Amino acid sequence: MTATDATTLDELDELPPFEAVNRYFDLAADAIDLDEEMRAILTTSYRELSVQVPLRRDDGSLTVAKAYRIHHNGARGPYKGGIRYHERANLDEVRALASLMSWKTALMDLPFGGAKGGIQIDPTGLSAGELERLTRRFTSAILHLIGPFRDIPAPDLNTNAQVMAWLMDEYSAGHGYTPAIVTGKPLALGGAPGREQATGRGCAYVMRAYAEDKGIELDGLRVSIQGFGNVGRWLADELDRLGANVVAVSDVDGGLHDPDGLSVRHLHQAVENGASIHDSGQGTWLPNDELLTLECDMLVPAAIGHVIHVGNAADIAADTIIEAANHPVTPGADAILAERQVTVVPDILANAGGVTGSYFEWTQNIQQFQWSEEKFCDELRRRMEEAYQGVRRRATALDVPLRKAAYAIGIERVAEASRVRGYI
Ligand code: NAD
Repeated sequence: MTATDATTLDELDELPPFEAVNRYFDLAADAIDLDEEMRAILTTSYRELSVQVPLRRDDGSLTVAKAYRIHHNGARGPYKGGIRYHERANLDEVRALASLMSWKTALMDLPFGGAKGGIQIDPTGLSAGELERLTRRFTSAILHLIGPFRDIPAPDLNTNAQVMAWLMDEYSAGHGYTPAIVTGKPLALGGAPGREQATGRGCAYVMRAYAEDKGIELDGLRVSIQGFGNVGRWLADELDRLGANVVAVSDVDGGLHDPDGLSVRHLHQAVENGASIHDSGQGTWLPNDELLTLECDMLVPAAIGHVIHVGNAADIAADTIIEAANHPVTPGADAILAERQVTVVPDILANAGGVTGSYFEWTQNIQQFQWSEEKFCDELRRRMEEAYQGVRRRATALDVPLRKAAYAIGIERVAEASRVRGYI
């Protein structure tokens, strides 16, 4: 089944990840009358690497993982996109995520193309030594593809600053000290103060711009967040600062709910002490799928993809869904939500603070100069608000939902660069 063949809600729901993203692409491409030749270029990836990563385990056994690095489109600049370690990271999912990066970097008007990487492995339970060997082996397998002006990886699901440090070290061993090869690094290696928090904070800035636009008071607004990792955690922190009421959060083991609001400070403390949100001593436990249908004003999926689907879209109680995770709403669910007039703030806008912060880090590395965290956050806020306003204006002009408007802007920019570079 392809994006164009799918017609029923169930067919839309069953589209594989890349076809599902291409479904969103097609709807926006129709709205801007994109020609067929350009569609053929932009609905396929430019380059795809599939590679094996053998990992010698601490107990002497061997695990051979499948791994990928996909370059979707590089017309506007070096390829940019995170690397995830996840048992379900397969070729098609990574391909879909790479294309999302092309639309996201273009929407934010960053001088980058779109890429993504992944290793198909469950990293929970890997020792630090195993994680390091896995990362170095993967880096050596993609060395010929990456470079500070070719392809600049970053963290994603289950990868963090330490993983980026190993990647940077492996690359620098052959090329000399090169902090600009990767973003999301530790501060000691040229990481930027504010980058770790940038995706979550950027998402909060978009939520604030949206709320102001709609005349919604953030003070006391009830927000549920699925996922309390890098994105969910810093989003909760910023929302708390803005006066919102975080009524539910979750991690892979389930959620915590308190209709009167959870203490974000206690959740942070638990996680910082190496425990989990469930050790923060508050709220009642609930399964992740129930968190999604809880009574609240805004729902923020900030964990994995495809969590809002045809099976639960009719039960979402929130008026607004903010896609902090990548591709959390399937096209079938998107159609149901539109019918129910639930607003969806799309991933390529809502979580673009991460790649925008990565852009700040990369430019600082190239110039060997460091901004203050205050300057970082001010610039991030300005760009997120501007991007939101641009999407809102385009949505009004085309009379379409925010997702279609955001894709339209991103696609137009990538198409224009591809055209003038002579890709077709
Ligand atoms: P992370 O690994 O730091 O955290 C993921 C969180 O989700 C954890 O709390 C984990 O327990 C939870 N989780 C994992 N599987 C789950 C499941 N099946 N059900 C419910 N919760 C589950 O990852 P992250 O960096 O916070 O990324 C989260 C999402 O945001 C991903 O979709 C990622 O692609 C997207 N994203 C991340 C960044 C970034 O800068 N880190 C940027 C843009 C988009």
